[in-house]
Amino acid sequence: MKVIIAGNGVSSITLVKELKKLSNNANIEIFTDEPRPFYWRPRLIEILANEASIDRITPYDKKWYADHNVKLHLSDPVVKVNPNEKKLVSKSGLEVKYDVFVFANGCKPFVLPIPGKELKNVYSIRTYEDVIEIKKHYGTSKKFVIIGGGILGIEVAAALNRAGERNVTIVEYFPYLLPRQLDKPGATILKASLEKKYQIKFLLGKTTSELKGNEKVEKVVFSDKSSIEADVVLFSTGVRPRISIAREAGVDVEKGVVVDDHLQTNVKDIYAIGDVAQHRKKLYGTVPPSVEQARTLANVLSSNDKRYQGSVMANMLKVAGIDLLSIGVIDPDSGDYTFASNGDMNKGLYKKVLTEESKLVGAITIGIKKTNALKVKKLVDSGASIDSMILEYVKF
Ligand SMILES: Cc1cc2nc3c(=O)[nH]c(=O)nc-3n(C[C@H](O)[C@H](O)[C@H](O)COP(=O)(O)OP(=O)(O)OC[C@H]3O[C@@H](n4cnc5c(N)ncnc54)[C@H](O)[C@@H]3O)c2cc1C
Repeated sequence: MKVIIAGNGVSSITLVKELKKLSNNANIEIFTDEPRPFYWRPRLIEILANEASIDRITPYDKKWYADHNVKLHLSDPVVKVNPNEKKLVSKSGLEVKYDVFVFANGCKPFVLPIPGKELKNVYSIRTYEDVIEIKKHYGTSKKFVIIGGGILGIEVAAALNRAGERNVTIVEYFPYLLPRQLDKPGATILKASLEKKYQIKFLLGKTTSELKGNEKVEKVVFSDKSSIEADVVLFSTGVRPRISIAREAGVDVEKGVVVDDHLQTNVKDIYAIGDVAQHRKKLYGTVPPSVEQARTLANVLSSNDKRYQGSVMANMLKVAGIDLLSIGVIDPDSGDYTFASNGDMNKGLYKKVLTEESKLVGAITIGIKKTNALKVKKLVDSGASIDSMILEYVKF
C-alpha cells in the first residue's frame, strides 16, 4: 500500500510512527513545503526566546526517515491531487501514484485584510523561517507590536521579553484577555501578572484598521483614529486550514477538510488529519487532537476497527509560565448560577467557582499550583455538591 502524506507536522509524523508500531509495512512518502525534517512547532517559542536551537526541537534527522523506509520530499509541496487517476503532482513536477492520500498540511496564519499588511517588517509565526526573520530585528528594532492577545500572542510577547526586547505591546480587539477562558476580573489579574513579569504593554478593546509606513511599517492605526508607533508588527489573529488543494480535487471542504469518524473524506482513499481536518463541525488547532486523529487513522489504515470520537480540549493551561484552569461554565449571562470568587492582584492569584442547583459546574483558577487546581478540576468533573460552603473553595 502506497501512502502519500501532504505535510510533515505532528499529525504526519505521528501517523508514520503509529503505522510502524502496528507493523503496517505501508510504503510511505511525505511531501512538505518546509526545507527541514519535522520539528516541534510549539517549541518555536523557545527559539524566539533564545532558549533553544532548531537541533534541540528536531527529534528525527533525515537518516531516521530513511531508516524507517519513508521517502521525504523537502521543499516540494503537493500542488494537485487527481482522485480519478489516484495521483498527485508536486511543485517540482513529480507525479506520484497513491493508494491512500492523507491531507496533513495544517493551517496558515490568518492576517487581517487591512491596508498596509504587505509592508516590510510585518510577520506572522508558523515556521522556523518566520522565527528567524523576526529574530533579525533583535537589538535593532525598538517597538514590537503584536496584534491579537490570545494564548499564542501572549506567549510570543513573553518570548520577546525573555530575548531582551523590552518594548512589546499587545493589541487586542476584545476588552479583556482570553475571553473564551476567563471572566473580566480573572483577565485583569492575568494582565497585571504579565505586565509585572514581562513588562508587556496592553491595548485592549482596540480594532486595528490600518498599518502605515513608507515601505517599512511605522504605525498601527485603530478604528477610533488613535495609533501607536511600530518597528515590527506580528499578526497573531488566528489560523485557517489549508483547504484549496482538497477543494480543487473535489473533496468536501467547509472551514476545514471535512472528515468522518474514520478521518476519511467524501472521496475514497483520501483522508485528513490534524489542523486541516474538520470533524463533526469542529476544528481544533492544537497538538493533542492532531495526535489522536493520527493514531486513529493508523488503525483505520491497518484494518483495525477504530473511530475518532472528537477530542476533549485541555482546560489546564500554562500561558507564558502562568498556570491557568478554565473549566465548565465560567461567565454565564443567563441561568440560575451562584458563584464565589477571590483575587489577589499583587500575587497574581484568582479563584472562581460556579454552582447550579448546588452542583459545581465551572471554575477558573490563575496562578494556583497545579495540584490544587487539579483538586478543583476533579470537583467540577464530578459535579460535586458544595453549595453551603462555597466560600471555602475560593480560599488561597
Ligand atoms: C508558535 C506556535 C506555538 C504553538 N503552541 C502550541 C501549544 O503550546 N500547544 C498546542 O497544542 N499547539 C500549539 N500550536 C499549534 C500546533 O503547532 C498545531 O496544532 C500543530 O502543529 C498541528 O499539526 P499538523 O500536523 O496538523 O500541522 P502543521 O504542524 O501545521 O504541519 C503541516 C505541514 O504541512 C506543510 N504543508 C502545507 N501545505 C502543504 C502542501 N501543499 N504540501 C505539503 N506540505 C504542505 C506545512 O508547511 C507544514 O509543515 C502552536 C503553533 C505555533 C505556530
